[in-house]
Amino acid sequence: MNWFRRNGSGNGRPNGLQAGSYRKGNSRLIELRQVTKIYQSAAGTFPALRGIDLQVDPGEFIAVVGKSGSGKSTLINMITGIDRPTSGEILVGDMAVHTLNEGQMAVWRGRNLGVIFQFFQLLPTLSVLENVMLPMDFCNVHKPSERQARAMYLLEQVDMADHAYKLPSAVSGGQQQRVAIARALANDPPILVADEPTGNLDSKTAESVFRLFENLVASCKTILMVTHDRDLARRVTRTLILADGEIVDEIRHSNGQCVADDYRGRATAEAQPVAQEARHAEP
Ligand code: ADP
Repeated sequence: MNWFRRNGSGNGRPNGLQAGSYRKGNSRLIELRQVTKIYQSAAGTFPALRGIDLQVDPGEFIAVVGKSGSGKSTLINMITGIDRPTSGEILVGDMAVHTLNEGQMAVWRGRNLGVIFQFFQLLPTLSVLENVMLPMDFCNVHKPSERQARAMYLLEQVDMADHAYKLPSAVSGGQQQRVAIARALANDPPILVADEPTGNLDSKTAESVFRLFENLVASCKTILMVTHDRDLARRVTRTLILADGEIVDEIRHSNGQCVADDYRGRATAEAQPVAQEARHAEP
């Protein structure tokens, strides 16, 4: 099930990064091929995505920007499998995501992607700690006896361990988003997908959450993030600009990316401590 396996070429490159090394013939970690999405409604048909081609390498930090209604959420919902394409292919590692049924999709997503939303979407009746344990319980990835300690470890990484036994409603929005990030890391997925993760936060708190993302990229996670914040969008490795369901431009930035040759030992390692810098940014 773990498509993030390595092939072992012995050529000094991190295994799994060679061209065509994934089972579905894709050479890139994420590949979208001519993806379209047409919504049907009473008002008629609406093309939200029009023939998207996209390739993403491990360790990239990608911002997706564009006006409201340009198709940003639809695009990342294709990658997470939350929504399905009308046509085209979506390959993530060894998985042809567009071919999975609902049940397969939920298990695959739970093990391989961390998804972070604008409004956190923590379960209100569970404690912070239980929210972080939930993906481990659902996917049965870590031993039951290890889950609580792992959840606590992740909460420490986002500086939320002191709040572990509170309900989400008892902590601030920025703190809830930190918990949501810890939850997204529960099964140690190589890819994080975030839809406006700072959209509901004040600028100082948004900065602290964004630093968590920067540190995760430095520890070789791959991140795709929808954002309206143009300043944050300049601090990633690549910005994709969407308009009317098409990628109309992309900008590469010279910000730090996980270096491929560093990749082997780090991609599947435990998340690196990520809260140190952020700790100072949030009151
Ligand atoms: P963005 O994230 O850039 O604001 P979206 O991806 O949410 O844009 O939406 C793109 C377009 O698709 C919008 O015009 C939106 O109204 C339309 N759309 C999104 N979801 C649906 C749906 N379930 N049914 C009909 N139209 C939809």
